[in-house]
Amino acid sequence: MVARRALRLSRLRGQPAWVVLEGDLRRTRTNMAETIFGKIIQGEVPAEKRYEDDEMIAIADIHPAAPLHLLIIPKKPIVSMADAQVEDAALLGRMLLRAAALAREEGVEVSGYRLLFNVNDDGGQTVPHLHLHLLGGRGMKWPPG
Ligand code: 5GP
Repeated sequence: MVARRALRLSRLRGQPAWVVLEGDLRRTRTNMAETIFGKIIQGEVPAEKRYEDDEMIAIADIHPAAPLHLLIIPKKPIVSMADAQVEDAALLGRMLLRAAALAREEGVEVSGYRLLFNVNDDGGQTVPHLHLHLLGGRGMKWPPG
């Protein structure tokens, strides 16, 4: 399964399969050794927290891409949406509903906002711990870069 994915991606990107496999391995190891979000969840690194409960936190993004830019992060160290399992469905649903509630509280519900997950390298994911972006306070463009 993993090898088949690596072969398919290597063909799409014109890269040898081992380059793809090595990238996968690096992501797994980084996550296990704790990401910046893991450290924020454990209180080892400060962050501007807007919400917290037993299963997730919401923090202000350190490099905001919009006037409102929050990250909703599960405490469970899921690497990305590509790694989410059926048993994570309720958690993921609660993250989406929490994002909608935060958008309401932050006053962008009527003007509108964007929710998104970047997934793995081509998706633009830089931190290998699942996080939902909430962006608002300006008009969004389509397609995204
Ligand atoms: P990704 O590119 O993985 O989808 O999003 C990662 C996000 O985390 C980026 O928007 C980046 O600005 C944000 N980020 C990275 N490091 C930190 C940090 O130490 N604190 C906070 N609050 N946000 C961070």
